[in-house]
Amino acid sequence: MIIDNVRQYFPILEQKVNGHPLVYLDSGATSQKPIQVIEALEQFYKEYNSNVHRGVHTLGNMATDGYEGAREKIQKFIGAKNLEEVILTRGNTTALNIVATSYARAKLRVGDEIVITQMEHHANLIPWQQAAKATGAMLKYIPQQPDGTITLDAIQATITPKTKLVALAHVSNVLGCINPIKETVELAHQVGAVVVVDGAQSVPHMKVDVVDLGVDFYTFSGHKMLGPTGIGVLYGKKALLEQMEPIEYGGEMIDVVDLYDSTWRELPYKFEAGTPMIAEAIGLGAAIDFLNEVGMDQIAEHDRQLAQYAYEQLAETPDVVIYGPKENRTSLITFNIEGVHAHDTATILDSKGIAVRAGHHCAQPLMRFFGVPATARASFYLYNTKADVDALVKGIIEAKEFFSYVAG
Ligand code: PMP
Repeated sequence: MIIDNVRQYFPILEQKVNGHPLVYLDSGATSQKPIQVIEALEQFYKEYNSNVHRGVHTLGNMATDGYEGAREKIQKFIGAKNLEEVILTRGNTTALNIVATSYARAKLRVGDEIVITQMEHHANLIPWQQAAKATGAMLKYIPQQPDGTITLDAIQATITPKTKLVALAHVSNVLGCINPIKETVELAHQVGAVVVVDGAQSVPHMKVDVVDLGVDFYTFSGHKMLGPTGIGVLYGKKALLEQMEPIEYGGEMIDVVDLYDSTWRELPYKFEAGTPMIAEAIGLGAAIDFLNEVGMDQIAEHDRQLAQYAYEQLAETPDVVIYGPKENRTSLITFNIEGVHAHDTATILDSKGIAVRAGHHCAQPLMRFFGVPATARASFYLYNTKADVDALVKGIIEAKEFFSYVAG
Protein backbone atom coordinates (compact mmCIF):
# COMPACT_ATOMS: atom_id res chain seq x y z
CA MET A 1 0.00 0.00 0.00
CA ILE A 2 1.30 3.44 -0.93
CA ILE A 3 1.59 5.61 2.16
CA ASP A 4 -0.11 8.58 0.45
CA ASN A 5 -3.27 6.46 0.20
CA VAL A 6 -3.61 5.45 3.85
CA ARG A 7 -5.73 8.36 5.11
CA GLN A 8 -8.88 6.97 3.51
CA TYR A 9 -8.79 4.07 6.00
CA PHE A 10 -8.99 6.39 9.05
CA PRO A 11 -12.60 7.61 9.27
CA ILE A 12 -11.93 9.77 12.33
CA LEU A 13 -9.64 12.03 10.30
CA GLU A 14 -12.46 13.11 8.01
CA GLN A 15 -14.26 15.21 10.60
CA LYS A 16 -14.16 18.89 11.43
CA VAL A 17 -13.19 19.98 14.93
CA ASN A 18 -14.18 23.45 16.09
CA GLY A 19 -15.21 24.25 12.55
CA HIS A 20 -11.87 23.27 10.97
CA PRO A 21 -10.71 20.04 9.31
CA LEU A 22 -9.06 17.93 12.04
CA VAL A 23 -5.26 18.02 12.04
CA TYR A 24 -4.38 15.20 14.42
CA LEU A 25 -0.85 15.67 15.75
CA ASP A 26 -1.06 13.59 18.91
CA SER A 27 -0.21 10.07 17.75
CA GLY A 28 2.61 9.94 20.30
CA ALA A 29 -0.12 9.81 22.95
CA THR A 30 -2.32 7.45 20.97
CA SER A 31 -2.64 6.73 17.28
CA GLN A 32 -5.86 6.67 15.30
CA LYS A 33 -7.26 3.33 14.16
CA PRO A 34 -7.84 2.18 10.58
CA ILE A 35 -11.21 0.74 9.64
CA GLN A 36 -9.62 -2.73 9.43
CA VAL A 37 -8.85 -2.63 13.18
CA ILE A 38 -12.28 -1.27 14.07
CA GLU A 39 -13.91 -4.03 11.99
CA ALA A 40 -11.75 -6.75 13.59
CA LEU A 41 -13.05 -5.66 17.02
CA GLU A 42 -16.62 -5.49 15.76
CA GLN A 43 -16.36 -8.91 14.13
CA PHE A 44 -15.03 -10.47 17.33
CA TYR A 45 -17.90 -9.14 19.42
CA LYS A 46 -20.56 -9.82 16.77
CA GLU A 47 -19.44 -13.23 15.60
CA TYR A 48 -17.16 -15.14 17.97
CA ASN A 49 -16.96 -13.42 21.36
CA SER A 50 -15.94 -16.12 23.81
CA ASN A 51 -13.28 -16.81 26.41
CA VAL A 52 -9.94 -18.31 25.40
CA HIS A 53 -8.01 -21.44 26.37
CA ARG A 54 -11.04 -23.00 28.09
CA GLY A 55 -13.66 -25.40 26.94
CA VAL A 56 -13.92 -27.04 23.58
CA HIS A 57 -16.74 -25.21 21.90
CA THR A 58 -16.41 -23.64 18.46
CA LEU A 59 -16.54 -19.99 19.45
CA GLY A 60 -14.03 -20.60 22.24
CA ASN A 61 -11.67 -22.17 19.75
CA MET A 62 -12.10 -19.27 17.32
CA ALA A 63 -11.35 -16.76 20.10
CA THR A 64 -8.29 -18.76 21.15
CA ASP A 65 -7.06 -18.90 17.55
CA GLY A 66 -7.54 -15.14 17.23
CA TYR A 67 -5.71 -14.40 20.48
CA GLU A 68 -2.84 -16.80 19.85
CA GLY A 69 -2.72 -15.75 16.19
CA ALA A 70 -2.10 -12.19 17.38
CA ARG A 71 0.82 -13.43 19.49
CA GLU A 72 2.34 -15.04 16.39
CA LYS A 73 1.93 -11.83 14.38
CA ILE A 74 3.67 -9.88 17.17
CA GLN A 75 6.48 -12.43 17.34
CA LYS A 76 7.18 -12.06 13.62
CA PHE A 77 6.77 -8.29 13.74
CA ILE A 78 9.54 -7.84 16.31
CA GLY A 79 11.66 -10.82 15.22
CA ALA A 80 11.46 -12.75 18.52
CA LYS A 81 12.97 -16.23 18.31
CA ASN A 82 10.33 -17.96 20.39
CA LEU A 83 6.58 -17.51 20.66
CA GLU A 84 6.69 -17.91 24.44
CA GLU A 85 8.93 -14.83 24.65
CA VAL A 86 5.91 -12.67 23.77
CA ILE A 87 3.84 -11.86 26.87
CA LEU A 88 0.59 -10.01 26.27
CA THR A 89 -0.04 -7.31 28.88
CA ARG A 90 -2.50 -4.50 29.52
CA GLY A 91 -0.01 -2.02 28.08
CA ASN A 92 3.55 -0.80 28.00
CA THR A 93 3.38 0.42 31.60
CA THR A 94 2.32 -3.01 32.85
CA ALA A 95 5.09 -4.67 30.84
CA LEU A 96 7.76 -2.45 32.41
CA ASN A 97 6.31 -3.02 35.87
CA ILE A 98 6.48 -6.80 35.39
CA VAL A 99 10.23 -6.58 34.71
CA ALA A 100 10.86 -4.17 37.59
CA THR A 101 8.81 -6.20 40.02
CA SER A 102 9.52 -9.77 39.00
CA TYR A 103 13.07 -9.52 37.65
CA ALA A 104 14.72 -6.52 39.31
CA ARG A 105 13.41 -6.97 42.83
CA ALA A 106 14.49 -10.61 42.86
CA LYS A 107 17.93 -10.05 41.36
CA LEU A 108 19.20 -6.73 42.69
CA ARG A 109 21.18 -6.32 45.92
CA VAL A 110 22.74 -3.48 47.94
CA GLY A 111 25.65 -2.06 45.96
CA ASP A 112 24.17 -2.92 42.55
CA GLU A 113 23.49 -0.13 40.09
CA ILE A 114 20.55 0.52 37.77
CA VAL A 115 21.53 2.81 34.91
CA ILE A 116 18.76 4.94 33.38
CA THR A 117 18.33 8.31 31.67
CA GLN A 118 16.65 11.53 32.65
CA MET A 119 14.61 11.49 29.45
CA GLU A 120 12.54 8.47 30.52
CA HIS A 121 8.76 8.47 30.63
CA HIS A 122 7.59 8.01 34.22
CA ALA A 123 6.59 4.44 33.29
CA ASN A 124 10.25 3.61 32.72
CA LEU A 125 11.49 5.53 35.74
CA ILE A 126 9.26 5.07 38.78
CA PRO A 127 9.31 1.24 38.61
CA TRP A 128 13.13 1.41 38.83
CA GLN A 129 13.02 3.94 41.68
CA GLN A 130 10.78 1.56 43.58
CA ALA A 131 12.92 -1.48 42.75
CA ALA A 132 15.99 0.45 43.95
CA LYS A 133 14.27 1.39 47.21
CA ALA A 134 13.12 -2.19 47.79
CA THR A 135 16.53 -3.77 47.14
CA GLY A 136 19.06 -1.12 48.20
CA ALA A 137 20.37 -0.84 44.65
CA MET A 138 21.34 2.61 43.36
CA LEU A 139 19.94 4.56 40.42
CA LYS A 140 22.53 6.17 38.15
CA TYR A 141 21.61 8.67 35.44
CA ILE A 142 23.52 8.90 32.17
CA PRO A 143 24.63 12.57 31.85
CA GLN A 144 22.87 14.46 29.06
CA GLN A 145 23.97 16.86 26.36
CA PRO A 146 22.43 20.36 26.43
CA ASP A 147 19.82 19.18 23.90
CA GLY A 148 18.80 16.38 26.28
CA THR A 149 20.34 13.53 24.30
CA ILE A 150 22.91 11.02 25.54
CA THR A 151 26.16 10.10 23.82
CA LEU A 152 27.75 6.68 23.60
CA ASP A 153 30.72 8.02 25.60
CA ALA A 154 28.37 9.07 28.41
CA ILE A 155 26.68 5.67 28.37
CA GLN A 156 30.06 3.94 28.48
CA ALA A 157 31.25 6.11 31.35
CA THR A 158 28.11 5.41 33.42
CA ILE A 159 28.05 1.63 33.03
CA THR A 160 30.45 -0.03 35.49
CA PRO A 161 31.00 -3.56 36.79
CA LYS A 162 28.39 -2.71 39.45
CA THR A 163 25.72 -2.15 36.78
CA LYS A 164 23.17 -4.94 36.81
CA LEU A 165 20.42 -3.37 34.74
CA VAL A 166 20.18 -0.63 32.11
CA ALA A 167 16.73 0.80 31.27
CA LEU A 168 16.15 3.33 28.52
CA ALA A 169 13.75 4.38 25.80
CA HIS A 170 14.48 3.46 22.20
CA VAL A 171 12.88 6.76 21.15
CA SER A 172 12.19 9.54 23.67
CA ASN A 173 8.56 10.67 23.80
CA VAL A 174 9.75 14.26 24.34
CA LEU A 175 13.00 14.61 22.41
CA GLY A 176 12.13 12.32 19.51
CA CYS A 177 15.76 11.17 19.49
CA ILE A 178 16.70 7.58 18.63
CA ASN A 179 18.97 6.11 21.32
CA PRO A 180 21.86 3.79 20.39
CA ILE A 181 20.31 0.58 21.69
CA LYS A 182 22.56 -1.96 19.99
CA GLU A 183 25.73 -0.28 21.26
CA THR A 184 24.27 0.13 24.76
CA VAL A 185 23.41 -3.57 24.83
CA GLU A 186 27.00 -4.45 23.89
CA LEU A 187 28.39 -2.25 26.68
CA ALA A 188 25.92 -3.58 29.25
CA HIS A 189 26.50 -7.20 28.33
CA GLN A 190 30.26 -6.75 28.76
CA VAL A 191 29.62 -6.23 32.49
CA GLY A 192 26.86 -8.83 32.70
CA ALA A 193 23.98 -6.32 32.98
CA VAL A 194 20.59 -6.83 31.35
CA VAL A 195 19.00 -4.17 29.14
CA VAL A 196 15.33 -3.18 29.28
CA VAL A 197 14.14 -1.04 26.39
CA ASP A 198 10.95 1.01 26.39
CA GLY A 199 9.81 0.75 22.78
CA ALA A 200 6.55 2.70 23.11
CA GLN A 201 7.68 5.37 20.60
CA SER A 202 9.86 3.18 18.37
CA VAL A 203 7.86 0.06 17.45
CA PRO A 204 5.10 2.12 15.76
CA HIS A 205 7.61 4.05 13.66
CA MET A 206 10.49 1.80 12.61
CA LYS A 207 11.43 -1.81 11.99
CA VAL A 208 12.46 -3.29 15.34
CA ASP A 209 14.24 -6.63 15.54
CA VAL A 210 14.76 -7.65 19.15
CA VAL A 211 17.31 -10.34 18.27
CA ASP A 212 19.37 -7.99 16.14
CA LEU A 213 19.28 -5.35 18.90
CA GLY A 214 20.26 -8.00 21.44
CA VAL A 215 17.94 -6.58 24.09
CA ASP A 216 16.97 -8.68 27.11
CA PHE A 217 13.53 -7.09 27.57
CA TYR A 218 11.58 -4.87 25.17
CA THR A 219 8.14 -3.36 25.83
CA PHE A 220 5.50 -1.46 23.86
CA SER A 221 1.80 -0.55 23.66
CA GLY A 222 -0.71 -1.52 20.99
CA HIS A 223 -2.63 1.75 21.02
CA LYS A 224 0.27 3.81 19.66
CA MET A 225 0.65 1.50 16.62
CA LEU A 226 -2.92 1.60 15.24
CA GLY A 227 -4.20 -1.02 17.71
CA PRO A 228 -6.77 -0.71 20.51
CA THR A 229 -6.09 0.53 24.02
CA GLY A 230 -5.65 -2.04 26.79
CA ILE A 231 -3.06 -4.22 25.07
CA GLY A 232 0.72 -4.16 25.24
CA VAL A 233 3.67 -6.46 24.88
CA LEU A 234 6.53 -7.61 27.05
CA TYR A 235 9.25 -9.34 25.06
CA GLY A 236 11.82 -11.09 27.21
CA LYS A 237 14.56 -13.58 26.51
CA LYS A 238 13.25 -17.02 27.33
CA ALA A 239 16.10 -17.87 29.72
CA LEU A 240 15.33 -14.75 31.77
CA LEU A 241 11.54 -15.11 31.74
CA GLU A 242 11.90 -18.69 32.88
CA GLN A 243 13.75 -17.57 36.01
CA MET A 244 11.07 -15.02 36.89
CA GLU A 245 8.10 -15.42 39.22
CA PRO A 246 4.62 -14.31 38.15
CA ILE A 247 3.41 -11.04 39.65
CA GLU A 248 -0.28 -11.89 39.41
CA TYR A 249 -1.92 -15.13 40.48
CA GLY A 250 -5.25 -16.68 39.53
CA GLY A 251 -6.87 -18.53 36.66
CA GLU A 252 -5.08 -19.43 33.41
CA MET A 253 -1.56 -19.16 34.84
CA ILE A 254 -1.52 -22.30 37.00
CA ASP A 255 -0.50 -25.89 36.49
CA VAL A 256 -1.53 -27.71 39.70
CA VAL A 257 -3.35 -25.97 42.55
CA ASP A 258 -3.22 -27.59 45.98
CA LEU A 259 -4.55 -26.42 49.32
CA TYR A 260 -1.31 -24.81 50.45
CA ASP A 261 0.76 -24.43 47.29
CA SER A 262 0.50 -24.27 43.52
CA THR A 263 2.67 -24.56 40.44
CA TRP A 264 2.70 -22.39 37.33
CA ARG A 265 2.05 -23.04 33.68
CA GLU A 266 4.83 -22.70 31.15
CA LEU A 267 5.66 -19.44 29.37
CA PRO A 268 4.02 -17.18 28.34
CA TYR A 269 0.92 -18.13 30.37
CA LYS A 270 2.45 -17.82 33.83
CA PHE A 271 2.49 -14.05 33.23
CA GLU A 272 -1.07 -13.88 31.85
CA ALA A 273 -3.31 -14.47 34.86
CA GLY A 274 -7.08 -14.19 34.40
CA THR A 275 -9.13 -13.58 31.28
CA PRO A 276 -6.79 -11.76 28.93
CA MET A 277 -7.43 -8.83 26.59
CA ILE A 278 -8.91 -10.97 23.80
CA ALA A 279 -10.57 -8.42 21.52
CA GLU A 280 -7.67 -6.04 22.09
CA ALA A 281 -5.09 -8.65 21.05
CA ILE A 282 -7.10 -9.48 17.93
CA GLY A 283 -7.31 -5.75 17.16
CA LEU A 284 -3.55 -5.43 17.59
CA GLY A 285 -3.10 -8.34 15.19
CA ALA A 286 -5.18 -6.46 12.61
CA ALA A 287 -3.09 -3.33 13.24
CA ILE A 288 0.10 -5.29 12.57
CA ASP A 289 -1.40 -6.62 9.31
CA PHE A 290 -2.08 -3.01 8.29
CA LEU A 291 1.43 -1.84 9.22
CA ASN A 292 2.93 -4.76 7.29
CA GLU A 293 0.82 -3.95 4.28
CA VAL A 294 2.16 -0.40 4.21
CA GLY A 295 5.62 -1.63 5.19
CA MET A 296 7.66 -0.46 8.18
CA ASP A 297 10.45 0.82 5.93
CA GLN A 298 8.05 3.14 4.14
CA ILE A 299 6.51 4.26 7.45
CA ALA A 300 9.93 4.90 9.01
CA GLU A 301 11.04 7.02 6.07
CA HIS A 302 7.76 8.96 6.02
CA ASP A 303 7.82 9.68 9.77
CA ARG A 304 11.50 10.64 9.70
CA GLN A 305 10.96 13.02 6.78
CA LEU A 306 7.93 14.60 8.40
CA ALA A 307 9.77 15.14 11.70
CA GLN A 308 12.68 16.65 9.77
CA TYR A 309 10.34 18.92 7.82
CA ALA A 310 8.61 19.99 11.04
CA TYR A 311 11.98 20.72 12.64
CA GLU A 312 13.05 22.90 9.71
CA GLN A 313 9.74 24.77 9.56
CA LEU A 314 9.58 25.40 13.31
CA ALA A 315 13.26 26.37 13.47
CA GLU A 316 12.46 29.16 10.99
CA THR A 317 9.38 30.33 12.91
CA PRO A 318 10.14 33.32 15.16
CA ASP A 319 9.86 32.85 18.94
CA VAL A 320 9.70 29.05 18.79
CA VAL A 321 12.04 27.04 21.02
CA ILE A 322 12.56 23.41 19.99
CA TYR A 323 13.62 20.71 22.46
CA GLY A 324 15.71 17.77 21.36
CA PRO A 325 18.29 17.20 18.63
CA LYS A 326 18.28 18.51 15.07
CA GLU A 327 19.31 15.17 13.54
CA ASN A 328 18.61 11.52 14.34
CA ARG A 329 15.01 12.13 15.34
CA THR A 330 11.69 10.67 14.36
CA SER A 331 7.95 11.11 14.54
CA LEU A 332 7.58 14.03 16.96
CA ILE A 333 8.67 17.55 17.81
CA THR A 334 8.45 19.25 21.19
CA PHE A 335 8.44 23.04 21.40
CA ASN A 336 7.35 26.18 23.20
CA ILE A 337 6.38 29.60 21.94
CA GLU A 338 8.37 32.16 23.89
CA GLY A 339 6.20 33.98 26.38
CA VAL A 340 3.23 31.62 25.89
CA HIS A 341 2.38 28.73 28.21
CA ALA A 342 2.21 25.37 26.43
CA HIS A 343 -1.39 24.88 27.55
CA ASP A 344 -2.37 28.20 25.96
CA THR A 345 -0.58 27.19 22.77
CA ALA A 346 -2.48 23.90 22.68
CA THR A 347 -5.79 25.65 23.40
CA ILE A 348 -5.35 28.12 20.55
CA LEU A 349 -4.30 25.34 18.18
CA ASP A 350 -7.31 23.28 19.24
CA SER A 351 -9.61 26.16 18.35
CA LYS A 352 -8.25 25.74 14.81
CA GLY A 353 -8.82 21.98 14.78
CA ILE A 354 -5.15 21.16 15.46
CA ALA A 355 -4.63 18.55 18.20
CA VAL A 356 -1.27 18.73 19.98
CA ARG A 357 -0.33 17.64 23.49
CA ALA A 358 0.78 20.05 26.20
CA GLY A 359 2.17 19.37 29.64
CA HIS A 360 5.09 17.50 31.14
CA HIS A 361 4.53 14.44 28.91
CA CYS A 362 5.03 12.13 31.92
CA ALA A 363 8.66 13.24 31.96
CA GLN A 364 8.93 15.69 34.86
CA PRO A 365 12.69 15.17 35.39
CA LEU A 366 13.29 16.08 31.74
CA MET A 367 11.15 19.22 32.05
CA ARG A 368 13.29 20.14 35.09
CA PHE A 369 16.45 19.55 33.03
CA PHE A 370 15.18 22.14 30.53
CA GLY A 371 13.90 24.40 33.31
CA VAL A 372 10.35 24.57 31.96
CA PRO A 373 7.07 23.49 33.56
CA ALA A 374 5.56 22.26 30.32
CA THR A 375 6.06 22.00 26.58
CA ALA A 376 3.84 21.46 23.56
CA ARG A 377 4.36 18.38 21.39
CA ALA A 378 3.26 17.61 17.85
CA SER A 379 3.60 13.95 16.92
CA PHE A 380 3.17 12.41 13.50
CA TYR A 381 2.24 9.11 11.98
CA LEU A 382 1.70 7.49 8.61
CA TYR A 383 -1.55 9.41 7.96
CA ASN A 384 0.00 12.86 8.52
CA THR A 385 1.18 15.08 5.68
CA LYS A 386 3.36 18.14 5.13
CA ALA A 387 0.11 20.11 4.94
CA ASP A 388 -0.52 19.14 8.58
CA VAL A 389 2.87 20.58 9.52
CA ASP A 390 2.10 23.74 7.54
CA ALA A 391 -1.21 24.09 9.41
CA LEU A 392 0.69 23.72 12.69
CA VAL A 393 3.19 26.44 11.77
CA LYS A 394 0.38 28.80 10.70
CA GLY A 395 -1.45 28.06 13.98
CA ILE A 396 1.68 28.77 16.02
CA ILE A 397 2.21 32.12 14.29
CA GLU A 398 -1.42 33.05 14.97
CA ALA A 399 -1.14 31.94 18.61
CA LYS A 400 1.93 34.11 19.09
CA GLU A 401 0.17 37.09 17.49
CA PHE A 402 -2.88 36.56 19.69
CA PHE A 403 -0.86 36.45 22.91
CA SER A 404 1.34 39.41 21.88
CA TYR A 405 -1.86 41.38 21.33
CA VAL A 406 -3.32 40.28 24.70
CA ALA A 407 -0.02 41.03 26.50
CA GLY A 408 0.44 44.31 24.65
N1 PMP B 1 7.03 5.12 27.59
C1 PMP B 1 6.95 6.00 26.60
C2 PMP B 1 8.20 6.46 25.91
C3 PMP B 1 5.70 6.50 26.21
O1 PMP B 1 5.63 7.39 25.23
C4 PMP B 1 4.54 6.04 26.87
C5 PMP B 1 3.16 6.55 26.50
N2 PMP B 1 3.06 7.94 26.48
C6 PMP B 1 4.68 5.10 27.88
C7 PMP B 1 5.94 4.67 28.23
C8 PMP B 1 3.50 4.55 28.63
O2 PMP B 1 2.74 3.75 27.77
P1 PMP B 1 1.24 3.33 28.14
O3 PMP B 1 0.59 4.54 28.72
O4 PMP B 1 0.66 2.92 26.83
O5 PMP B 1 1.33 2.20 29.10
